[in-house]
Amino acid sequence: MDIQPENNRPIDLHVHTTVSDGSLSPSQCVEEAQRMGLAAIAITDHDTTAGNAEAEARGRELGVEIVPGVEISVQHETLTVHLLGYYPEPGVPEFEAVLAGLQEHREERNPRILARLAELGCPLDYAEVLAEAGDGVVGRPHIAAVMVRKGYVSGLNEAFDRYLARGAPAYIERTKPEPEAAVAAFRQARAVPVLAHPGAMGARSVDEIDAIVVRLVDAGLRGIEAYYSTQGGGQTAACLRLARRFGLLVTGGTDFHGHQKPGILMGRGAGSLHVPYGLLAQLKEERAQL
Ligand code: AMP
Ligand code: FE
Ligand code: FE
Ligand code: ZN
Repeated sequence: MDIQPENNRPIDLHVHTTVSDGSLSPSQCVEEAQRMGLAAIAITDHDTTAGNAEAEARGRELGVEIVPGVEISVQHETLTVHLLGYYPEPGVPEFEAVLAGLQEHREERNPRILARLAELGCPLDYAEVLAEAGDGVVGRPHIAAVMVRKGYVSGLNEAFDRYLARGAPAYIERTKPEPEAAVAAFRQARAVPVLAHPGAMGARSVDEIDAIVVRLVDAGLRGIEAYYSTQGGGQTAACLRLARRFGLLVTGGTDFHGHQKPGILMGRGAGSLHVPYGLLAQLKEERAQL
């Protein structure tokens, strides 16, 4: 690894804000980054870039470098695969259309989840769910939070386990783009496409992860998230091998969601994660060449 101290400063390239399902606002995330001593963070909200500008402004005030980004879901066979895109250019129609499509599907899906919950004896008011989400992208974590408040479940995990998780009775599949279409849209916006948390996709085998990586690399993937809160040493090593094999960048982040994911600290993950600034330096070099 890089021995320059500057390139060893801690960063976090995977952070969610209230603009999607995190519990801290974009500005508060930057404040948390400063508190944690991080040199840089990437804002990677689900399906939207709406929090990036606020974070960048607060970052300039506090001297924390902000990487604008986004996280979207795509479908590979039966698996949901998450893609991170770093430095998307604003206003590129093909890219904005992918985000708009994902947001529309949510608006269609959320009422169907509530209908199922009502059948299961947990009626909720959609207005309350919208209020829970503020003006951000609405998802299952917001539904789960209202369920806790209503006393249907004792916590977010119970809401997911008993009702909302895939395979549970109130789960409704989301319509997701094909990996090729999503990666192409990222590239059109000059965003660096990175496979998020390969060890946390629910893949059944190493071969399945391989197949996904091959498919994404063919489509234009440029990086892989090797360092991640819930990826152990073996999984990180497997990601580093994939990166070498396919000439991919290595990235790392915690998937910080604030109290929505208690126990995950910004920049530190479950406690011991260290993502060095040198990885961001390489990401920026890559972006310059796209
Ligand atoms: P959605 O975007 O509506 O499909 O919801 C997915 C989000 O729910 C993820 O990004 C996580 O933040 C959260 N999530 C998924 N599974 C769980 C779980 N078992 N417990 C708590 N939160 C979860
Ligand atoms: Fe999330
Ligand atoms: Fe993810
Ligand atoms: Zn995430």
